[in-house]
Amino acid sequence: MGLHREIRRLAQLGARGYWDHATRRSKERLRIFLDRNAPQRRRCSCCGWAGWSFVDYEGKGYVVRRIVCPVCGSHGRHRALAPFLRTLLAELSPGKKVLHLAPERALERTFMERRDLLYVTADLIRRRWLGKLGALTDLTSLAFRDNSFSLVLCSHVLEHVRDDHAALAEIARVVAFGATVLILVPTWKPWNSRRTLEFGMPHPRFDDHWRIYGSDLPARIEACGMRCAAVDLRAPLQRRAFERFALTDEVLFICVKPKIEGRKAAVASRPHTARIPCNLALLERPFRTSAQPCDRQAAGLEGGQGWAR
Ligand SMILES: [Zn+2]
Repeated sequence: MGLHREIRRLAQLGARGYWDHATRRSKERLRIFLDRNAPQRRRCSCCGWAGWSFVDYEGKGYVVRRIVCPVCGSHGRHRALAPFLRTLLAELSPGKKVLHLAPERALERTFMERRDLLYVTADLIRRRWLGKLGALTDLTSLAFRDNSFSLVLCSHVLEHVRDDHAALAEIARVVAFGATVLILVPTWKPWNSRRTLEFGMPHPRFDDHWRIYGSDLPARIEACGMRCAAVDLRAPLQRRAFERFALTDEVLFICVKPKIEGRKAAVASRPHTARIPCNLALLERPFRTSAQPCDRQAAGLEGGQGWAR
């Protein structure tokens, strides 16, 4: 049976395709063997997995070696962000609403550690992990009320949106006064070495991104009524954590909607100094997840449109 299956696969893929398939399969088997039997060199701060090596990420025409968690699918940026997020969530009082835009499965567990919060997700397309409070909605016209959320996470989304000013204005509208918005986007390296480059279309060589962000991103955010500070996600960590958690070089834009309403107030206020609530202990802490007992009515969001289910 096994031999027949291999012959059928060879006929389907051709010699070159079959060779690539066999090589990938052998590497995966070797990785699983090493995970079980070799020292645990790598660890995921999102799900708690520990093992020999992360797995490769295959993008459009490129491969990033040993970067994806084999259990939760986290990338370096998720693992760097998780302790920040965990700290900010811990500061929220029960019943507060948090919004995860275009939710990433890897970070869902981190939100779920606070089951007494109302975890709301929103995406343009239906996903398996959209959750109980998942809305199918456009980022440039969100189906939520003004000043609804105590924390918003928007990670690697804005670069896929044609009108990012409209998207940022919508985020600023739905977040509560004094609340935090966490924004991650692909940037130049270093992020402030050049201004944002607009492609004018989704660029096929850059994962269909509309732009690469640069030094003017804080100004773009502040033009929409929020204060912004850029922090290096790896700055508070010891260097050995970079390798252990395979963290990538990412900048987090920490934004706050000022308590005084109006765009002029945001610009006129003193510069926002971001806290960096992160240390190695937070990366290593034990993990727990639980089901989230909540409904849309309790969330006060029942008036919105386009709920996923
Ligand atoms: Zn993981």
